[in-house]
Amino acid sequence: MSAVDLFTTTYSRSPEGSYSAPGRVNLIGEHTDYSGGLVLPFAIDARATLAVARNDDNVIRVVSAQRPGPVQTFSTQEIHPGSAAAQTWAGYLLGSVWALRRAGHAIGGLDLALDSQVPSGAGLSSSAAVESVTTLAAGAVHGIHLTPMEVARFSLQAENEFVGVPCGPMDQTASAAATAGAVLLFDTRAGTVENIPFDPAAHGLSLLVIDTRVAHSLADGEYARRRASCEKAVDIIGVTSLREITVEELPVALDRLGDEILTRRVRHVATENQRVTDTVDLLRSGTIGPIGELLTESHRSLQYDYEVSCPELDLAVDTCLAAGAIGARMTGGGFGGSVIALIPSPLVGQVARSVMAAFETHGFAEPVPRLVNPSDGAHKVNHE
Ligand code: ADP
Ligand code: MG
Repeated sequence: MSAVDLFTTTYSRSPEGSYSAPGRVNLIGEHTDYSGGLVLPFAIDARATLAVARNDDNVIRVVSAQRPGPVQTFSTQEIHPGSAAAQTWAGYLLGSVWALRRAGHAIGGLDLALDSQVPSGAGLSSSAAVESVTTLAAGAVHGIHLTPMEVARFSLQAENEFVGVPCGPMDQTASAAATAGAVLLFDTRAGTVENIPFDPAAHGLSLLVIDTRVAHSLADGEYARRRASCEKAVDIIGVTSLREITVEELPVALDRLGDEILTRRVRHVATENQRVTDTVDLLRSGTIGPIGELLTESHRSLQYDYEVSCPELDLAVDTCLAAGAIGARMTGGGFGGSVIALIPSPLVGQVARSVMAAFETHGFAEPVPRLVNPSDGAHKVNHE
């Protein structure tokens, strides 16, 4: 059911407006966003839509088309990170309201109805879509104009501090600030973004995202360990963030580390930042094909140096490449989740079938391939 229909059915009135925000895929720049690095995500054409109206009861009411059940009601005074609700799906909406209110924005009662086509847990950041659409909508109906970067910041606070997930700022920034037909160059050290035109279709290419549908249980612990390794390396090398280490300076920095594991971690981060820069340079010069090689190099670096891949991701990448993809890599945190592949459009069906067959042969769960297109960030939905 659409967000507006769900709203009307649930609250027996019309919403004041509806808003929409996308999921995202990271083209390249993985595990760099907590080291002040560069990332290059884009918004996808699967979106979360939120219908909204203010209420005079000082409560937040929430329903979701994907979470059937009665309306949940929360007093605006009682929304806080430690509450039981913060650990449920409602926490992703309440967290955005909480972050806005904490910053002094006068957000009163709200009735909310959510409908999201971003599959949850598929590495497409359904959580950022829900947070950014809620931040934007809650602000807008109260007459508060938020810039895309402000929407991203409050949404990130919702995820980090309210729900309690220690992610970097990439997902919320992509969902809030991306534009259609572009990738978003996000410099996480400077806090700046720039949309770089990216139109694979015009070059006869397609972007296929393959959800491996595995989520290995070590993901959270290993993520925390990678962050800790980066912090340790920063201390030993004597820099403020790994972003400062360019590929030219890498040999000197690695000498100072004198540790095999840390060496590989730092090498990934420095070379990955360079791959993002190289990708952007290629896109700016109007070429797309050669970025395929950079995507695959990124995967090898994540596989061997950063060690965040897994057999399912490696099989998907290798199979895509063997079946005609010009580049493929894991995207997202790793240990499961999705692979992104850049494929000549006529070969998309063949690549997808090859991956399905390879997974079956290996006894892995059936993967889910999806074509994605670079789309708009969060915005108001205009009804006719
Ligand atoms: P993802 O990689 O998709 O972001 P997360 O675990 O970070 O995975 O976020 C998924 C969570 O976001 C869900 O467990 C749920 O709490 C919330 N969520 C996402 N989509 C919806 C939806 N349509 N309705 C309600 N909650 C949702
Ligand atoms: Mg998420």
